[in-house]
Amino acid sequence: MAKKGFILAHTELDERMVERLKESGLDLLGVHPGGGIKAAELLDELIEYLNDPRFYGMLDELEKSGFEIEYELHGLNWLLTKSVLDCHPDWKRVNSNGERVTDYNFCASSEDALNYITDRSYYLATLLKQKSHRYNIWMDDVRDGHCHCEKCKSLSPSDQMLIFCHAVLRGLRKYDPEATQSYLAYMDTIKVPEKVAPEEGIFLEFAPIDRWRPGGNDAEFEYIKPLIEFFGAETSKVLEYWVDNSLFSGWKKPPKKCVLDRERMKRDIKMYREAGFGDITSFGLYLDSEYTALHGEFSIKEYAECMDEPKDV
Ligand SMILES: [Zn+2]
Repeated sequence: MAKKGFILAHTELDERMVERLKESGLDLLGVHPGGGIKAAELLDELIEYLNDPRFYGMLDELEKSGFEIEYELHGLNWLLTKSVLDCHPDWKRVNSNGERVTDYNFCASSEDALNYITDRSYYLATLLKQKSHRYNIWMDDVRDGHCHCEKCKSLSPSDQMLIFCHAVLRGLRKYDPEATQSYLAYMDTIKVPEKVAPEEGIFLEFAPIDRWRPGGNDAEFEYIKPLIEFFGAETSKVLEYWVDNSLFSGWKKPPKKCVLDRERMKRDIKMYREAGFGDITSFGLYLDSEYTALHGEFSIKEYAECMDEPKDV
């Protein structure tokens, strides 16, 4: 059964948010600690939260109310830290200037680096202890962050992402034999991989962020059909930005007022359902108690209702 989701940061979950989610009619909660250069630090913070009985209790309550809990993680820098890369220069990526660098990602042709990522993915799964079999562990949040070395230069960013996803999935399956792992189609990886085929257990996660940038259009939609054909429709998931108030606020506090464009969302939902997508979710950061204090409470229920009304469009 296709799930209807909402994504927030671990720091935004409180007792009132639990109530808002339970009242909404949604059944999927994604926890996204954050991206950018602090992604690894924020993932460590999330892991600390998971050991806090109050936080874990809130997740438990949501699960008992029918929610599935997932994590949406820019995990590369946590799986493969810069200090580890410094110990293994051949694991570092080569940038477009031909230099081996530790700024982002890694060399996707390094078997040893991939094996290390597999081991760390297993370890991460033991810390997350998630009940859902769906994992969303992504590479770094950056454009042109792939490897240009002699071995990798014939591999597109999408090929390199899929190689990474396979290494992660191998580790996750040691913890959960039914684990599945997302391929994040996003920015440089929006195109279908060319040289690598998806292994069983990889699903498409389509995140068209560019349509939300100033002057953006819906050009990313042209990639949907080939992506669905490549990865399969049934397991494919939409990751949208309809209520991503962190994006609308330029990722800077204080949060701006968030106005849901219901008609646009309903049009999009109709298109995504017709394309065959299963789970549909959106980032919903910066709509927590801090937002409520400034602008009044944002209705998550109103957002959830847009998922139920595609026929009205
Ligand atoms: Zn390489």
